[in-house]
Amino acid sequence: MSTHLPAVVVKAVSAIEKLPGIGPKSATRLVFYLLNTPDEYVEGLANNLIELKKKSKFCKICFSVCEEEKCEVCKDNNRKERSICVVERSIDVINFERTGVFDGVYHVLGGAINPLERIGPDDLKIDELINRVKELGKSSQDKIEIILATSLTMEGEATALYIKNRLDKLELGEIILINRIGMGLPVGSDLSYVDEATLSRALEGKRKL
Ligand SMILES: [Zn+2]
Repeated sequence: MSTHLPAVVVKAVSAIEKLPGIGPKSATRLVFYLLNTPDEYVEGLANNLIELKKKSKFCKICFSVCEEEKCEVCKDNNRKERSICVVERSIDVINFERTGVFDGVYHVLGGAINPLERIGPDDLKIDELINRVKELGKSSQDKIEIILATSLTMEGEATALYIKNRLDKLELGEIILINRIGMGLPVGSDLSYVDEATLSRALEGKRKL
């Protein structure tokens, strides 16, 4: 960042630069764009962001972002609670919901195992998932389906495999079916960038893990 810019601009640029997909150039462009927009817009934007952080919670069952204790999906009695689609982030839930093909519920891990960024299994909602499945196993002998829908990146694959091993240790036998989404998705796919049609194909093309 060149230093001939006012400190206040540099500060704003370095804050915006931290957003995913934004480099120094785009950050600078955005800051200058904001400088030239009416005060009300910038104030509104700032207030929206503050409100977003203040009002949003995580669903106590699936950890998806919501405004109440439970998200809309977990509250819906028509959704199959024994069919759980495991995703990395809340945005993946939104993308899967847009396809309209999934009638189960979700579990949001909060990311993927990534040794380089020091994200281990304990940093994710994996224990919570295991407990959730354990409870389902106790409550009835009806089939449980787990769809591991983490990204097809190295981290996503490692996370899916780790969860599969943990689930195997529950020894639920025949009642649990562990699937991995796949067909139609190129290797290395980050699910948050995949379009709806491809996502529904990936869900249909799930395979046993
Ligand atoms: Zn929920």
